[in-house]
Amino acid sequence: MNKNIDTLTAGTYDLVIVGGGIHGAVLALAAARAGFRTALLEKGDFGHSTSANSLKIIHGGIRYLQHGDFKRMRESIASRRAMMAFAPHLVKPLACLMPTYGHGIKGREIMRTAFAVYDMVAFDRNRGLPADNRLPQGTSISADEVKWAVPGIQEQGLTGGAIWYDAIAGSTERLVLEYVLEAARYGADVANYTEVVGVEKAGDRIAGVTVRDQSTGRTIAVNSRIVVNAAGPWLERLAGGRFRGTGQLWATAANIVVKKRLFRKYAVGLEGYTEYTDRDALIKRGKRLFFFVPWQEDYTMIGTSYKPYRGAVDDFVLQRRDVAEIVDDINKIYPPAQLTMADVTFCHGGLLPMTEADADRADSVQLDKSSQIIDHGVDGMPGLFSIKGVKYTTAPDIADKMVRLLQDEKWFGPRNPGSSGSYKAVPPNRLDHGPTIRELGGEYERIRKYLEGLYGTRWRSVFGMLVQQDGRNKGDGLWLSEEPALLFAEVRYFVREEMASTLADVVFRRSNLGSAECPGRALLARIAEVMGGELSWTGEEQERQIAAVLQVYAPLAEMGAA
Ligand SMILES: Cc1cc2nc3c(=O)[nH]c(=O)nc-3n(C[C@H](O)[C@H](O)[C@H](O)COP(=O)(O)OP(=O)(O)OC[C@H]3O[C@@H](n4cnc5c(N)ncnc54)[C@H](O)[C@@H]3O)c2cc1C
Repeated sequence: MNKNIDTLTAGTYDLVIVGGGIHGAVLALAAARAGFRTALLEKGDFGHSTSANSLKIIHGGIRYLQHGDFKRMRESIASRRAMMAFAPHLVKPLACLMPTYGHGIKGREIMRTAFAVYDMVAFDRNRGLPADNRLPQGTSISADEVKWAVPGIQEQGLTGGAIWYDAIAGSTERLVLEYVLEAARYGADVANYTEVVGVEKAGDRIAGVTVRDQSTGRTIAVNSRIVVNAAGPWLERLAGGRFRGTGQLWATAANIVVKKRLFRKYAVGLEGYTEYTDRDALIKRGKRLFFFVPWQEDYTMIGTSYKPYRGAVDDFVLQRRDVAEIVDDINKIYPPAQLTMADVTFCHGGLLPMTEADADRADSVQLDKSSQIIDHGVDGMPGLFSIKGVKYTTAPDIADKMVRLLQDEKWFGPRNPGSSGSYKAVPPNRLDHGPTIRELGGEYERIRKYLEGLYGTRWRSVFGMLVQQDGRNKGDGLWLSEEPALLFAEVRYFVREEMASTLADVVFRRSNLGSAECPGRALLARIAEVMGGELSWTGEEQERQIAAVLQVYAPLAEMGAA
């Protein structure tokens, strides 16, 4: 997959998608696979924004039980299944535990019944999934088991725990990229660091977009019959103020990553301590749940905390007090955690659409409940659609709905699947892997497993980079780093085949190196050197790239964290 801005000017696309977050990426694949000539344009790197900041839970919608909203549950279940099937190496089952208290509404018996209902609604949750990537049924465990899993949990009234299974994306960023890569294989033209600066009309119809290549500053016109605005928090900007009513409200959503493995075996949901009113729930008053998710070997991801956001989208950045408040909240919810700011090694912050919030109460945020496709035809822009996404998980559902809209006779009618460009299989690796495999000896199995775990069926192409020797990688050893693991070949692959053009692209979105804490200057320098060889960076440029990555963690250091 290579960036080629010139291809964007040839002919007219059926649709141009603006925004390479999860919604844009999944739609690009769905549209290209359905036979539409598709372009996907992202102003930063693919998946760099809200989609990188998720808690990484691919929800089956169990929480919608309390809303009695079976439609949303079914949409979530189908979307979760689609993601687990698409990238089984990245999206895996996650065992979740909710401690139960007493014998009433939060008691074990009611929970067990609720989960049995959920399992019935989710009867087809594993349809078509590989045998080793399936979700078991919910169950319950004893109070003693809960005490083992959640040491120091409040024991008064504890009757046990309800267990259910959701999925977790080992890397939400890489998952976005996998959709982009697959879309490109189906013939979509994709480009990162390419900003859409205007939506153009010819007469009363959409004619395309004006695009600026961020790397060269060059501006070009891209013709398209449909423009889909999947710009996340920048949604309104692109739609040119065409949102009806008073404009979209946004909430800050935040998680923290701490270098402590707090619980055993399960991701654990614990109730916050402040009252929260969920206007759509059957039982409206309750407490918002904090979720503690085991992350990599030694860390726990905790979230999500919400607050109304009143500033400009471009100004959004998590503040020290946001992180400090989460740390305080966690210590109140689960005192044995004894968190300090120094335990926080990373944090996630993003903006999500909300419907309302009480200006005086930070915990009163009512998030938009469902993702939405907005047809701007009624605003005088036929052919312009916006996707307002509220969950990473349900991107496949929204993409299906958007494709069905395109297949309507009003637009294109059905296309022959794959007609926009035949599927480009991973190029057959003509190189003989045999000598390298023999040379690696016992190490080969380790590398194969390692690559398979990260890249799924694409692992052979990455391995091919190891076999392939050219002027640029002749002197490579095998491992650029043993701990954390990273092969020289991976870095070269990211640059040559996955459009990585900055060190941050590699650290945060191609590999998972930066997702728990700063990988350290020495490792960053080694990666920058290899990338420098690929991209002709001077020593000065390498330093600039390193500084840009360190800058991501700098606010934490300034906060007294990390
Ligand atoms: C803290 C937090 C925790 C969350 N946890 C979960 C969870 O556990 N599970 C879950 O399902 N969901 C979760 N979510 C929600 C989920 O992350 C979002 O709903 C989802 O990622 C939004 O994806 P998107 O593609 O709509 O937006 P984004 O990921 O923001 O993508 C929009 C993209 O558009 C690009 N763009 C904008 N303007 C332009 C332009 N003019 N030209 C080109 N490109 C442009 C941006 O650069 C951006 O990359 C969480 C969110 C947050 C913030």
